[in-house]
Amino acid sequence: MTSQSIPDADTTQRKLAILADAAKYDASCSSSGTSKRNSVGGKGIGSTEGSGICHSYAPDGRCISLLKILLTNFCTYDCLYCVNRVSSNVPRARFSVDEVVNLTLDFYRRNCIEGLFLSSGIIQNPDYTMEQVVEVARKLREEHDFRGYIHLKTIPDASAGLLAKAGKYADRLSINIELPTQESLQSLAPEKDGPAIRRSMARLRLHIDDAKGAALDQSRGSIISMPLSRKVQRSTAPRFAPAGQSTQMIVGADATDDRTILRASASLYSAYRMRRVYYSAFSPIPDASARLPLKQPPLMREHRLYQADWLIRFYGFSHDEIVPDDSPSNTDGASTGGMLSLDMDPKLAWALAHRESFPVDVNKAPREMLLRVPGLGVKAVVRILQARSVRLVRADDLARLHVPLKKVMPFVLLPDHHPGATLDGNHLASHLAALVRPQQVQGSLFDGFDGTDEPLINGLRHKRFVASKDTSELPAMHTLTALPLLSTVRTDSTVFETLDTLPAPALTTGAIAPAIPVRPRAPLALAA
Ligand code: SF4
Repeated sequence: MTSQSIPDADTTQRKLAILADAAKYDASCSSSGTSKRNSVGGKGIGSTEGSGICHSYAPDGRCISLLKILLTNFCTYDCLYCVNRVSSNVPRARFSVDEVVNLTLDFYRRNCIEGLFLSSGIIQNPDYTMEQVVEVARKLREEHDFRGYIHLKTIPDASAGLLAKAGKYADRLSINIELPTQESLQSLAPEKDGPAIRRSMARLRLHIDDAKGAALDQSRGSIISMPLSRKVQRSTAPRFAPAGQSTQMIVGADATDDRTILRASASLYSAYRMRRVYYSAFSPIPDASARLPLKQPPLMREHRLYQADWLIRFYGFSHDEIVPDDSPSNTDGASTGGMLSLDMDPKLAWALAHRESFPVDVNKAPREMLLRVPGLGVKAVVRILQARSVRLVRADDLARLHVPLKKVMPFVLLPDHHPGATLDGNHLASHLAALVRPQQVQGSLFDGFDGTDEPLINGLRHKRFVASKDTSELPAMHTLTALPLLSTVRTDSTVFETLDTLPAPALTTGAIAPAIPVRPRAPLALAA
C-alpha cells in the first residue's frame, strides 16, 4: 500500500481542501424532486423550497452547489479508475462526524450552500463506513433540525438496516453502478460486487415505493369529508428518500460501447426506477494501471449519452432503436460499431436513418411521432397539440414556437409546406449536421498562447486568451473544450477566458460569475 497520510492534514481547512477536491467529480448530485421543507416560523434551519436548491457548475460542468465532500478519502478498495483507491499516492484525510455536521451548518448559515452531498471511501468495512455517513445525516436532522437538502452516497455492501436508516434522513440516495457490465467491474474494480450493488438498489426501490404508497394512502384518506369532531388524527407517512435514487456510470474506462451502456441504463431505469443515471467520462489518473486507457474519451461522447438517455426517458425511444444491434455504418451516421455518432445528436441520427417514417404531418401525427421529429422538444409538441385542436398549424406557427426551423422543416408536412425531395437528398445528413454543430476545431492548448491568435475552442471563438505565466497550469486548459458557455476568471488574474457569448463589458465591470479555479478533469472520486 502506497497511500500516505499527510501530517498536517488535521486542520479542518486542510481536510476540507482534500475531501472536497476528492468528491467534486461525482456527477450524481442533482438535487431536484425532494419534498418541500422549510424553517418558516423559526423552527429548524434550512429549506428546500423558496429559492430552492441553487445549482452552480464548476468549469467542467459539474454541480458544486452543495457542500460536496467525502467523509474520508481513505479506502480499502482498489478500483483502478479511482484516485482514492488504496494504491493511490494521494494526500489522505478524514473528517469526524461532528466536523461534517458543523461544516454543513456553518456553510449553510453563511449562505454558501443549500445542502450536503456526502460520500466516503470505504474504511474498516462497509457497515462501519455507512454508519458514519448515516450518523452525519441523523445528527443534522434530529439534533440540529436541519431542513436543507441531504444526498447520501450509499455503500452497496452495507446492511439493509443501514440503508433503511439512510433513507429516513436523506432526500436522495445513490449507489454508483460504476461500470455497465459485470465483466468490466470484475476487471477494474474486483472488490466490487455487481449483484450486491443491484440488490441494494432493489432494496432502496422497495423502500421508496412503500413510502410513496403510504403517502398516497394518507392523502386519499385526508380528502374524505368528515365532521371535525370525527376526524381521525393520522400518523405521518414514513419518509424515505423523497428525491429517489440515482447512480453513475463511468464512460471510456473500458471498451464497453454506447449500445451496452444505454442497455444498462434502460434496465436501471425500469428495474430500480432510477431518477437519473449520470455518465462521467473517464479521465486518466496518475500512476494508472496499464489496463486503463491513456486518453480520456471525447467529452462529446458523454454529451451524446445524455442526449440518448433523454430520448429514452422523455421521447419514447427504446435503447435498441437509438443504437440498433446491426449498427450499419452509413453516411447517415445512425451508429457505428455500437457507438453513437459524435457528429450529430442521436435523434437526428435516428430520423436520417428512418427517412421512410417522414415527413410527419404536424396536424395529424400522434404525439409519439411528433416527438421523433428532430428539433421538436416535449414542450413544443405539447403546444402543437394544443394549437391544432383549434385550428390548422402552419409554418408561421412553428416559427412562433421558436423551434429550429432549418432542422424541423425537412421532416414535417404542413398545409403550406412540403419538404419534397429535400428529405431524400444525399446531402441532408451533412447539411443538418453542420447546422446543429458548431464548427469543430480542435484547438491546441498553445494556440494563442501569446495572445495574438484567437483560438477556437469547441467552435467558439475567444475574444481574449492570455495564458498563465505559470506553464504548469497550462494542461488545465484542456477542460475548457468541454464548455458550451464559458466565463472563467482565475483569481490570480493570469488567465482570462471569455467567449463571444459573454458581453465584453462583463470582463471589465467584474460582472463575471465568481472566479472558479480551472482544473483538469480529475479522475473520479467515488464511494462504493
Ligand atoms: S470507487 Fe469508491 S470503493 Fe472504489 S476505490 Fe474509489 S472510493 Fe474506494
